[in-house]
Amino acid sequence: MTGGEKRLVYSSDRGRICGKCGWPVSDCHCSSNLAAPEAQIPAKISAKLSIEKRGSGSVVTVVGGLPANRGFLDALARELKKSCGAGGRAGETTVEIQGDHRERLRELLARKGWIVRG
Ligand SMILES: [Zn+2]
Repeated sequence: MTGGEKRLVYSSDRGRICGKCGWPVSDCHCSSNLAAPEAQIPAKISAKLSIEKRGSGSVVTVVGGLPANRGFLDALARELKKSCGAGGRAGETTVEIQGDHRERLRELLARKGWIVRG
C-alpha cells in the first residue's frame, strides 16, 4: 500500500462520539448537564440557624443546611425577608437575613413543619 488511503476516523453509522460525555454527538448528554441539576426538596426539611458577623459590626441570621435548589432558596429568601422586614439574600445552600432574627425564624420555620436546629 503506497497510496495514502484516507479513512474516516468515525464510521458514519455510529456517528462522532462526544469527547466529554462519551455519548454520540447526536445524543450528547453535555447540554443537559450544563446546568447542575437542582437538588430535590426533601419531605422533611431541616435547617440550622446561626448568627454571623458582617463588616461594621452588623450581624446576619443564617438559615443553613438547605437544599441547593435556586427556586426554593429564592422563594424562601423572599418569604423570610418579608416576614422579618429586613434585607437578605439566598446563598448556595443558605438564606441570610440581616439582623438577629433567630427567634422569629425558629418559630416561622417550625410552623412550616421544618426541623430547626441552632
Ligand atoms: Zn457530550
